[in-house]
Amino acid sequence: METNVQRIKQDIEQLAQFTATPKEGVTRFSFTPEDRAARNYIKDEMQRAGLAVSEDAAGTVIGRRQGQVEGPTVMLGSHFDSVKHGGAFDGTAGVVVAMEIARVLNEHNITTHYPIEFIAMIEEEGGRFGGGLFASRAMAGMVTEEELIGHCDEAGVSLAQAMREFGLDPANIKAAQRRPEELKAFFELHVEQGPILESEGTALGLVEAIVGLKTYQVKITGRPDHAGTTPIHMRADALLAASEVVQQVRQIARDVGGGAVGTVGKMEVLPGASNIVPGEVHFTVDLRSHRESALEELSQRFQAALKEACSKEEGLSYTLTTKLDAKPAQLSDQLRNVIAEEAKARGISAKTMISGAGHDTQIMATLTDAALIFVPSKGGRSHCPEEWTDYADLKKGADVLLGAVLAVAEGK
Ligand SMILES: [Zn+2]
Repeated sequence: METNVQRIKQDIEQLAQFTATPKEGVTRFSFTPEDRAARNYIKDEMQRAGLAVSEDAAGTVIGRRQGQVEGPTVMLGSHFDSVKHGGAFDGTAGVVVAMEIARVLNEHNITTHYPIEFIAMIEEEGGRFGGGLFASRAMAGMVTEEELIGHCDEAGVSLAQAMREFGLDPANIKAAQRRPEELKAFFELHVEQGPILESEGTALGLVEAIVGLKTYQVKITGRPDHAGTTPIHMRADALLAASEVVQQVRQIARDVGGGAVGTVGKMEVLPGASNIVPGEVHFTVDLRSHRESALEELSQRFQAALKEACSKEEGLSYTLTTKLDAKPAQLSDQLRNVIAEEAKARGISAKTMISGAGHDTQIMATLTDAALIFVPSKGGRSHCPEEWTDYADLKKGADVLLGAVLAVAEGK
């Protein structure tokens, strides 16, 4: 059995049209008109593939295929939200491949032993509300009320409000939760978003671990003063403290080592005028490592550095909000072996690797055995309009995933 590359291509191209920034990449934030349009397309295609389609309390689209037994369920899928001006493959590739696998099983009239759910998640990127991994965390029961009310988009719309406007009830979020005993396994196919597979000429990456990440929103408050009349020793310059934190984030990641990384990727200086001492600075901090102890050390040392930077000048203070806290995940050796066997049987090259990007799989791994397959990203580019994966490569991943899902769903 194999997947149909033409249908995969068509789905990718169709979904790429549901963007808020036509001709400037895919911008598909959660609970927006673009989300609605893409969601309707996915639901239609799932129905045509013979799936029973529903949506959970977090807005995840679920297409279910009955098995010979009621459960546990084999799940596969990915997310269909995007970053601002992102590409057509990040997340969407895994959703499309899952839909194609559903079509192939339907065409072959296969009833597997265990049921299979094909899922399309949202707000993985945190593009709109700054958190991320939202749909999978809802499945794991990790979404809090504080987050629903406290995480807002740039227009000040909270997650809860956006959900309500979209027709979902945020108070019902716990209904999205799945119990470990309901699940047999979780599979995700995703583009690598890095250069390793392409540069080595390897078709597939079999992920053994996914980095943990902690992301923060920091606000440093100083005092806006006249840039000409306020003596240099009498200022409370919020940007001065912030810039020290930026330097420290890099230094701390280097000290911790072992592939640990830290990034300040977004900053806003207020009131934002050339002749005013910065009174307030807002910025993000993103810390990652695949080792839990290293991630903890990064976080503690960053927080100490922030405190230190704000204690140097009188009149400086800060607030720190955690936007995302996801532990590093070890994925299933057993599922990885099933996938490796399938790749070998089809003559497709594969290598074991670590994912430096966060994925829904790392949350699903807290519920069930989980596996993540990477397909090559051209030039390693991602989160940009140029993001590309050759359809022939995507088909290789889809075929291997089809075989692996079938093996697990048949209880082999
Ligand atoms: Zn993604």
